[in-house]
Amino acid sequence: MREEYRLKPSDFNTERRPTWCRGCGNYAIHDALKKVFVQLELYPHQIIMVYGTGCSGSGVNFLRTYGFHCMHGRAIPIAAGAGLAAHKMTVIAVSGDGDIMGAGGNQFIHACRRNINITCILVDNHVYGLAGGQVSPTGGNDYKAGSATRVISVQPINPVSLAIASGATFIARGFSGDPLQLREILKKAVRHRGFSLIDVLAPCIIYSSVDIYGYYRRKIYRLEDVKSYDRSKKAEAFEKSLENDRLPTGIFYKVDEPVYEDTLKQIDRKPLIDHIISDIDINKLLNRYY
Ligand code: SF4
Repeated sequence: MREEYRLKPSDFNTERRPTWCRGCGNYAIHDALKKVFVQLELYPHQIIMVYGTGCSGSGVNFLRTYGFHCMHGRAIPIAAGAGLAAHKMTVIAVSGDGDIMGAGGNQFIHACRRNINITCILVDNHVYGLAGGQVSPTGGNDYKAGSATRVISVQPINPVSLAIASGATFIARGFSGDPLQLREILKKAVRHRGFSLIDVLAPCIIYSSVDIYGYYRRKIYRLEDVKSYDRSKKAEAFEKSLENDRLPTGIFYKVDEPVYEDTLKQIDRKPLIDHIISDIDINKLLNRYY
């Protein structure tokens, strides 16, 4: 009998080394992904990673899986399409808060409410790091960063609250400074059937005006430590997501509900990518649109 080759995290490395700034929160996410793939016994050919535009997007060069680097704000619809075409594969969208909560905000809401079976990792650092440090939609009115010349008086988007309100079925918050918890959350999110969001507090050390790791370490507490917390209760999850004096991390909400792909007869028999299409006359098809 052939012995299965057991993967190591380093098997997911490409020949290119990550180029993020030293201390960037993207490193912890990259590391967690590799370790979780090994723990879940996933092989590179079983994983599709879709990256949006921003600092996190260069991850497409550093992780050995199928990968797609798309235009600004479109990581979620492309991941959703990939997931429907190849629904046996593990599909993960990774992108920043400017990308997913700004240009891609509308797609995010509809992926949540459709309960599309993908995992979304939101690399949340409150800035557009690649573009020069402008405040992003998750940056609050107490946040002054990078090229912002003054404190801007606008309300930030809270990705966890938005996901709860929009109908996602697995919603969590992680922190790059807590890699153990991040890995546990990621493992459960990838296993979950339905739309899973992990809002990862992933400091940008270039455009933060404070000791951002220290700031989070003082504010954060783990939801796992709150014994009475029931993560199947939507109202309770929503209330927790609004806490601001201290910041809960962990799984806020998790329920099992029908996923979008279950409603599609086209993928009943086999994944779309396994259909033979070489005998289809594409010109005949295109001519129908002239
Ligand atoms: Fe990370 Fe900020 Fe550097 Fe971008 S600019 S790689 S987000 S630390």
